Amino acid sequence: MPIKACDHVPSTIAPPHTLKGCEDCLKTGDSWVHLRLCVHCGHVGCCDSSKNRHATRHSKAEGHPVIQSIEPGEAWMWCNTHEKQVG
Ligand SMILES: [Zn+2]
Ligand SMILES: [Zn+2]
Ligand SMILES: [Zn+2]
Repeated sequence: MPIKACDHVPSTIAPPHTLKGCEDCLKTGDSWVHLRLCVHCGHVGCCDSSKNRHATRHSKAEGHPVIQSIEPGEAWMWCNTHEKQVG
């Protein structure tokens, strides 16, 4: 049985609002590099390699610590409170 890396990971992962791209960049017409899902509410934002870093900004602004990669073939999660990979 895997050890749960942190208590911030919710038992149910929220489904993404969209798979079309970073929802905040789509609004402003900006571009992104990789996509990250807020597992708490389904917000889709761009990664820290993107100029707007919407995933991290959402995480801090909303107090939603855990994000998940939704790039094809990737499923790791990252906790912004613990600053480590949690799944
Ligand atoms: Zn955590
Ligand atoms: Zn973005
Ligand atoms: Zn969220």
